[in-house]
Amino acid sequence: MIVTMTGTTHQLIALLAAFWILTMYPVSLGPVLAIIAIFAVMIGAVTPDLDHPATNILKRTIGGKLVHRLFTAFSGGHRHFTHGLLGISAIYFFLHWIIVQFLQPVYHPQLLTLLYAFMIGYISHPIADTLTDQGVPWLWPIAWNIKIPPGPEEVRVTTESFVEIILLRGSLLFALALLLSSHWSVLVLLFAR
Ligand SMILES: [Zn+2]
Repeated sequence: MIVTMTGTTHQLIALLAAFWILTMYPVSLGPVLAIIAIFAVMIGAVTPDLDHPATNILKRTIGGKLVHRLFTAFSGGHRHFTHGLLGISAIYFFLHWIIVQFLQPVYHPQLLTLLYAFMIGYISHPIADTLTDQGVPWLWPIAWNIKIPPGPEEVRVTTESFVEIILLRGSLLFALALLLSSHWSVLVLLFAR
């Protein structure tokens, strides 16, 4: 049975999505914030699968097992709470609330920028999962796994298969290289002050 796309694939998709958005809405963050924002996109891309049983990184860390168990219990298993619109909004408003309530107002603009970067990566994840065999319960708690295309299984992405790793990752890298080279000034601007 197909469970999920790999983390690396999700991160590539997230970077592509983030850069594509950047070409439409260019910003200057300065070198430090730009680098952290890129990491935020990549962390956001793998966060929705923290409820996944195969997420071993979390389990291996101290206290990770407990956090993982709580997260899984709360989310109702893989691809439930964390992949649905309700969960996505809840996570956004929760993090926004933490920043505004508990962190120094001086840092709010930077922290909110990082939150937006994180959310771009995060949202790209269930969108990509929608193209896999299992689909995504966008309307969780309504148990309806939405898949695109809805047709035969062979059309959708089969996880960790030859097709995903070679074709998907290859074309993602190619698309990213193409987008970066054709919009190099946007990337330069991102790192500028
Ligand atoms: Zn997922």
